[in-house]
Amino acid sequence: MRNPYEVLGVDRRATDAEIKKAYRRLARKHHPDVNPGDPAAQKKFQEIAAAYEILKDPKRRQHFDQTGETGPVPPPGVPRGPGSPFPGGGPGGGFRWQGDFGDLFSELFSRAGAGGGFGGPFAEEEDEDAAAELTIPFRDAVLGGTVTFRARLPRRCRRCGGTGRMGGAPCPTCRGSRTVVENEKVTVRIPPGVSTGSKIRIPGKGLSEEGDLYLSLTVEPHPYFGREGDDIIAEVPITVAEAYLGAEIGVPTIRGVVRAKIPPGTASGQKFRLKGYGVENRRTGTTGDHYYRVQVATPRRHTAEGRVAAETLTRLYDGDPRAELPKGL
Ligand SMILES: [Zn+2]
Repeated sequence: MRNPYEVLGVDRRATDAEIKKAYRRLARKHHPDVNPGDPAAQKKFQEIAAAYEILKDPKRRQHFDQTGETGPVPPPGVPRGPGSPFPGGGPGGGFRWQGDFGDLFSELFSRAGAGGGFGGPFAEEEDEDAAAELTIPFRDAVLGGTVTFRARLPRRCRRCGGTGRMGGAPCPTCRGSRTVVENEKVTVRIPPGVSTGSKIRIPGKGLSEEGDLYLSLTVEPHPYFGREGDDIIAEVPITVAEAYLGAEIGVPTIRGVVRAKIPPGTASGQKFRLKGYGVENRRTGTTGDHYYRVQVATPRRHTAEGRVAAETLTRLYDGDPRAELPKGL
């Protein structure tokens, strides 16, 4: 394992606060949720987490400073070497990070994400990162896309250098709040498969150019397509004849209309699957399915011919279709 100070980019004399700040910034930047489908970022993230585990613990930090070992601190009297749980540094003597991914994620982003909504109040980090929320269309979330929007972004006040004060009085530009809101046009590439709660990092758009902007996404619902994880769910009306005889019909999917077969004797409400026609998930590298439920549509127009056809169909049932139903509780 690499030197944890180098991993976090901090000096050996760094304070706990400096270490925590460096860790939070790097962990946010390399978090797998912000870098979907990037194994290098995942590896980097684990390295950062492992380095922080050592440096945030005064005993382990001291142990590393004295011995250069990154493994756990051996209790006094425990022998070292082969077969010992404390092999004394080197490969295998390392630490395996076992933190809760979800908790860490919300911890990393919660403070930055508070406030929410462009134009709303922004929670401020000690560092140069900023956070905001962005609502995107269903289409861009599912297929990916580029979204350009005008945003009111918090930027570090340049007049007072972000201190909030000038000559012992509150800064007249930011009124002591240390940030000013700037109206800016931002373009962001949305990878396919994001969902509500996904985070996207925009480099250089934080409180200053050194910081990043973290967008928390909300996906607009679609009037026709529903989504459950990576699967798409929709309903397709079919005619009585298509249900009875079977048919090949056009099924709308997120990637266009797909021809699909309906078997003869299909019931209303029956569910079918088009494998691989769901959402392509960049994080897992898998693709969801498209599920569609057919609804038998009954003709509205009444004619003598229609009545004969309906009566003909009725004679084809094997008895009362409700015969098996309970009479009540
Ligand atoms: Zn100011």
